[in-house]
Formats: sequence, structure tokens, C-alpha cells
Amino acid sequence: MLKWIYDLSYDELKEDVCKLKMPGYVADQIFQWLYEKSIDDIAAWSNISKQNRSLLSRKFNTRPDKIIAIEENKEGTGKFLIQLIDGSRIEAVLIREKKHLTLCISTQVGCALKCKFCATGIMGFKRNLTCGEILCQVLLVKREAAASLPQQKRMPKVNIVFMGMGEPLLNYENLKKALAIITSGKGIGILPRNITVSTAGILAGIKRLEEDFTAIKVGFSLNSPDATLREELMPVSKREKLSEILTYFKNTSRKHRLTFEYVLIKGVNDSLKDAGKVSALLRGIPCKINLIPYNENGNIDYETPSAADVEAFCEYLCARNYTVMIRWSKGRDIKSACGQLAVEI
Ligand code: SF4
Repeated sequence: MLKWIYDLSYDELKEDVCKLKMPGYVADQIFQWLYEKSIDDIAAWSNISKQNRSLLSRKFNTRPDKIIAIEENKEGTGKFLIQLIDGSRIEAVLIREKKHLTLCISTQVGCALKCKFCATGIMGFKRNLTCGEILCQVLLVKREAAASLPQQKRMPKVNIVFMGMGEPLLNYENLKKALAIITSGKGIGILPRNITVSTAGILAGIKRLEEDFTAIKVGFSLNSPDATLREELMPVSKREKLSEILTYFKNTSRKHRLTFEYVLIKGVNDSLKDAGKVSALLRGIPCKINLIPYNENGNIDYETPSAADVEAFCEYLCARNYTVMIRWSKGRDIKSACGQLAVEI
């Protein structure tokens, strides 16, 4: 059985290369072909001898997962349906901004956390993605983005948000392995400060991430300042207590500001009283707040708040010196917006 090369760290690949009696630098060459040049055909790896290429092709499978459907809207936001080796399907999203691209990447097939406002939660949990399955989303979506650029235009800056299907910090080992390749100069070479890992609040995972990757940003889905309502919206917070997470945030210094994500749901958590509680709760934590008006989603009864209510919520927090962004999600028309990713399995 061939080994799937994307599941190997640099050290694991080097060890395998050396076992094949090739010099260690061949691992660097392979990484360059796969992750810098995005060429997975071993026959095309021209700086590796023919004999070694033949040996490599008998040892490794270098084919990435397959994109089986792409939906794009007028604004250039694309949703990619990707089929994995076992037939499972996941989604990744490409958001084309003026000066940069944002890739929204999944870490699990489905999700066990069942947040009430999220389509992925309804799917339930199927399995964790491997390191290679996380990496391939980045490679495939980047490749598609590069192919769609006008000739001569350089690839814009790429940001990655782990905000697709699944709770990234419940698949920490595979996420960590993938992040090592995504951020390495030998690998994909994306700066850690351009990466955000978004979590529903897995405190042990947040601590590990912040120890292992000090420059990677953490996004925390707050969604309600009220512990009881938050437990209703996000059942995980019955065991991962909001108060403990906020105490950790307050008492730990970091290089960057935290991002608090807040999905605004009409009549549920979008009042000025809620804004007041958010303001009091986050006082003293260097942070910015992303307000994400809820995306209506055939299967769930919640509604999008009015633009006026969203603005009022935002202004309330801005007036109290918070940095606040309203994220009217791009891609609502193709169900690629926050909380809308889900596939039939
Ligand atoms: S919002 Fe995130 S953590 Fe919650 S169910 Fe959806 S994918 Fe899982």
C-alpha cells in the first residue's frame, strides 16, 4: 500500500527518504514540489534523478484529494466541495477580498458540538480530518485561486481561517501537524500572523495552541455574554465554562489581540442590553469583536437581525472603545457563509 505523502511531516518524510537510501535533501526537494510549486506529479520533479523518482512513485501516493464541485457567486466567493479518499465530503471556502484572499478551512467531517445556529452541527460528527486532508484543502483552493488570476498578476496575500466544518481544537494533533507545514518556509510558507484558529471554546486546546504557535491568532466564538443562554446556544459551554476561558484570556499575555466572534441572532442575543453585557464582560481583554449577522439556513429557525439593529449593537460597543467589525458574510447565496457549511453524506 502506498503512503499518502500529505500525511507526513517533514521529519517523517526525511526518515522515509533516507530509508530509501536517498540523500536527506531529497525531502526538501519533495516539499518544494508539493508545497511551493504545487506539482504533485512525481514524473515532473525534474531535479530528482529518474531512478529516485521511480523509487518514490513505488513508495508514495502524491495525488491530493479531489474537488468535485465549485460554486461561485458574483463577488468571487467560491465554495469547494472536496471528496476525501474514503468518500467523505467536506467544504472549503475561498473569499476574494480587494488585497488578499481568505481561505476558510475545515478540520472535521461534521461536528460533535451541535451549536444551535450551525448547519455543520446538525450533520453530527463523522470523523477527524488527517493532517493531509487539512493541507490538501489549502493547496487545492490556493491552486484554484492562482489559476483564476489574470496573467502576470502575482498571488495576493493569503489568510487562513480555521472556521469551516468542525471544531479545530478537538482535532489538535492533526491540526498542529498541518500548521507546522502551512507555516514552514520549507512548506506552504504562510505567516502565522495571517492564520486564525477559531474555537467554540476548548480551553485545553487554546492553551496548547498558544504555547505551540505564539503568533497564530485565536478566534473565540462568544455569541452570548450570558452563561445560561450561551449554554443553550452552544452546549459545549456546559463543560467548557465561559468564566474560566475569560479568566485565562485576561491573565495571559499574547502577541496579538484576541478576536471575539459574535453571531447576532434576531431577538435572541442582539439587544442593546446584550451589547452592554458584552462590553462589561470583555473589559480588560485586548481584543477586537467580529459581529456576524446570522445567516438564515432552511433547517434552523433563527432569523437574521435587521441592519439597523446590527449597526446599533456595533455603535454601542464602538462608543465604549472596542474595535468592532461587522461581517455581513460573503457567499450567503451559495451557503458558504459562517454556520452554513454542511454536506450530505
Ligand atoms: S459552530 Fe463550529 S463548533 Fe459549533 S457546531 Fe458549528 S462547526 Fe461545530
